[in-house]
Amino acid sequence: MLINVRLLNGYKEIFTYTVPTELASENLVGTLIKVPFQKRIETALVCEQFEHLKNPVSFALRTAHSLEPFPQDTYYQQFIKQLSIYYALDPFYFFKRVRIFLKEKEEIEQSVTSPILEHRPLDVTLSEDQKIIVAALTPIIESPRYYPSLLHGVTGSGKTEIYKQLIMHALSCNKSVLLLLPEVSLAVQFTQLLKKQLPESVLIYGFHSATSIKEKRTLWEQLLTAQPIVIIGVHLPVLLPIANLGVIIIDEEHDVGFQEKKYPRINTKEAALLRAQLAKIPIVLGSATPSLSSLYTAQTKNWHFFSLKHRFAGAFPTIQRVKLTENKEQRAHFWITKELQTAIADRLAKKEQTILFLNRRGHSFFIQCTGCGFIPACLQCSVTLTFHNNGTLICHYCNFTQAEPTACSSCKLGPKNLLKKGVGTQQIVAILEKLFPTARIARADLDATVNKKNWQQTINDFQSGTLDILVGTQTITKGYHFPKVTLVGILWADVNLSFPVYNAAEVTLQQLIQVAGRAGRQSTESLVVVQCMLDHPVFNYLNEIDYLQFYNFELEKRTIVRYPPVIRLAEIELRHTQAACVEKEADKVADFLITYTLEKNLSVTVLGPAQPPVHRIKNVSMRKIYLKCPDINQLLRLYAALNKNNYQSTLFFTPNPLN
Ligand SMILES: [Zn+2]
Ligand SMILES: [Zn+2]
Repeated sequence: MLINVRLLNGYKEIFTYTVPTELASENLVGTLIKVPFQKRIETALVCEQFEHLKNPVSFALRTAHSLEPFPQDTYYQQFIKQLSIYYALDPFYFFKRVRIFLKEKEEIEQSVTSPILEHRPLDVTLSEDQKIIVAALTPIIESPRYYPSLLHGVTGSGKTEIYKQLIMHALSCNKSVLLLLPEVSLAVQFTQLLKKQLPESVLIYGFHSATSIKEKRTLWEQLLTAQPIVIIGVHLPVLLPIANLGVIIIDEEHDVGFQEKKYPRINTKEAALLRAQLAKIPIVLGSATPSLSSLYTAQTKNWHFFSLKHRFAGAFPTIQRVKLTENKEQRAHFWITKELQTAIADRLAKKEQTILFLNRRGHSFFIQCTGCGFIPACLQCSVTLTFHNNGTLICHYCNFTQAEPTACSSCKLGPKNLLKKGVGTQQIVAILEKLFPTARIARADLDATVNKKNWQQTINDFQSGTLDILVGTQTITKGYHFPKVTLVGILWADVNLSFPVYNAAEVTLQQLIQVAGRAGRQSTESLVVVQCMLDHPVFNYLNEIDYLQFYNFELEKRTIVRYPPVIRLAEIELRHTQAACVEKEADKVADFLITYTLEKNLSVTVLGPAQPPVHRIKNVSMRKIYLKCPDINQLLRLYAALNKNNYQSTLFFTPNPLN
């Protein structure tokens, strides 16, 4: 018996070995095996197993040693195979990735902040709604089948209590649990929380970039012996072989952070769903603001839908909308409206706390008129035109280009009124210091969080009440619990709506609800002031009990302009150091895609090639092509055909790109 293997050390060649007699009767494909290589022993993945060589060789083949211990996960090979097909990757990639990761040294272990956690014992009395959900899910952990469920629980409704019950139940059935979160900092928080709140005997392991190498090794040992454990992380845990996986829990399931930022941009949520389906186990997707795609699938594929409509403590805030473009002459600073200023002064007088939120992801990507709020957009693609420094506006889906306008094309105001740069948190703090000289104000954005010690101090100060106002970006939207906050001010609510992606409205609303949800956690009266340039209909759904109505509103729009979840979208990115090369080849690729689509009678629409908003990074130029189709399999087939061609540029394929 012979095998073809690939070494996990990175060599691309395939090597042939003979199989030792004690392994000859086993199916070795997909297993890891130790082989002699030059003068050392290497670990290799078995790709093929066969009786005879097609072309005999003149030298004696060496014999493989023994199998590398590997968790007995029956569904693992199949899972990796299907995942590889979906992402147009070599299955080898996944083996190598987990392997390399187990060996990597910890880098940022000490650098992740740990917030003050609420202590809640396990025997907390569940609400009736919580009991119903737990009672529905626990029998399926016991006698498992594929059972995808979507858990819509408003902010502060106690989804975590449900997760804890499911975890304990799975462990009592001798099964392991995967708990996935969209960010490492959240995974760290959850690990600490569960270690504190679950019995000491429960084995909980983080598996992410902040996990120590020692902990990773211990985790691997536990996987080999099939101990029932809890594994918490972001992208990596779903790629682990787990013999006795009982349930997968995905919290903050709406978060685009589940899609990896670097290529291959694997979407962990999709991978987890695939895995649950193959392993025939339940999977729970939880969120206060479920993604449109999950709501759509729940509706069209009969997923189970559970909801928690009430907060554990406190009450929902009142929402007040204020337009930045109006009454400008009545206030000292453009970014703080009279309404917001009054509300802050009121909180200061009552010794209550305020959070001011500024999303800075979108700013400086587009142009907006401060007179009427108008933003130039691509009529064909329904996305904002991206502002480039050379004075042009470009659609990054279809490449439509126009010159930078000298006046607002809607209200005709001159160039002075066209806002090209947004506003930063530092600037906001400076304005507040002038308006409220005695207030204690701190900043919490990415720059401020780089110094972890100061950041931790800021969080502690805010939680203990020695700060009055916290001005922050996305960093303060998730995970933290600030009981004394009764006012949340959203400085520029529509900035992200203008981000040139099809799901801008969805992502914006989800984020705003998360931020607004910081108000009134412990008090019955709280306020959210929402400042915006334009009164976009998405703001009708800011009150989180109305969130599900947003689904119908947004789905109708997506149906008209043909975007996910009603159709499938895929992205092809080309990269090359020479701009001219990538530009020429992008056209060639698009031509091929169109021709193949016509020849094979596929129903694919090819968009682009277009320049992405950021189209040259570190001397590498990029172009993107988008594909739309009702059927994902057609997209995979089309890309597989394209992938057989040779290009000088490197091609990256992302099915279902989220941002
Ligand atoms: Zn366009
Ligand atoms: Zn205007």
